[in-house]
Amino acid sequence: AKSEGMGRCAYFSPEVGVETRERTRLLHGLRDAFQHERLFLAYQPQVDLASGRVLGFEALLRWRNDDGTFVPPDRFIPLAEQSGLIVPIGQWVLRSALHVLAVLDREGFPGLRAAVNVSVVQFREPQFVESVDRALADTGMSADRLELEVTESVCVLGQESVAVQLGALTRRGIQVAIDDFGTGFSSLSYLDRLGADRLKIDRSFVQSLEQECGGARIAEMMIALARRLGMRSIAEGIETEAQRQRLAELGCDEGQGYLFGRPMALDDFKAWLKAWQPG
Ligand code: C2E
Ligand code: CA
Ligand code: CA
Ligand code: CA
Repeated sequence: AKSEGMGRCAYFSPEVGVETRERTRLLHGLRDAFQHERLFLAYQPQVDLASGRVLGFEALLRWRNDDGTFVPPDRFIPLAEQSGLIVPIGQWVLRSALHVLAVLDREGFPGLRAAVNVSVVQFREPQFVESVDRALADTGMSADRLELEVTESVCVLGQESVAVQLGALTRRGIQVAIDDFGTGFSSLSYLDRLGADRLKIDRSFVQSLEQECGGARIAEMMIALARRLGMRSIAEGIETEAQRQRLAELGCDEGQGYLFGRPMALDDFKAWLKAWQPG
């Protein structure tokens, strides 16, 4: 699905017809799902790798059809971006995640952090920073409880305006993580200037840890790079204890993955928080 944006089959008109109709259908469905509250969030824990302590969650968007089946985010998020629908949806995600922090504060899990994915399309909106301010004020959350996950594409596109927006956000104490690090093309000097708080090491590098021939070296360099730039590192997609241990040895600060917990509905996440034993 990732390749769809790359102009796949652009010259084969019959397929383009099918493709376009399929996308139009999906976009109608997405609009409808958003309006009728059939989008919801799943919460995946993020933990301190050394101690196992829970630091917070990443909010991940889910679309459930009436028949109980799910449309995967890799299919509908690109569509939401192309149509601009990601702007109101993203705003809803942000508010919902902050609201959940307030709920968890009250219910005995205080001080967690919410990590929210932000599309480059949202960043291009001049009112983006203002809308984040409003979401924080409306939910009564302090800025340091929020982390925005941005991909390297955010760093590459429209560099100056993005840097200005990111600066405004970090000055407020909002944390910024560079998502899927190592899979894009941002330059190291740009990475330095961004002043992000966290480098999020992509799952593909975590998976290659177990390969003998130097698989750990890339992850090791990324962790060292984060440290040199004064950033913390978090690894995503940790599935095995061996991966957790290796990453901890390499000095990776934080982790997220099925080993700790899958993305869960709120009630399941609360139960998970209650049952979780660090270390
Ligand atoms: P991502 O930001 O890289 O999110 C991590 C993905 O890895 C999630 O997929 C998560 O369910 C999955 N994952 C976590 N731990 C493991 C693991 O141990 N093993 C494996 N195999 N997978 C793991 P998901 O939920 O399908 O989301 C896919 C992508 O959709 C996200 O990738 C993100 O780019 C995008 N996305 C999700 N929610 C939002 C949102 O609210 N806004 C925007 N703009 N994008 C979103
Ligand atoms: Ca993410
Ligand atoms: Ca990621
Ligand atoms: Ca990823």
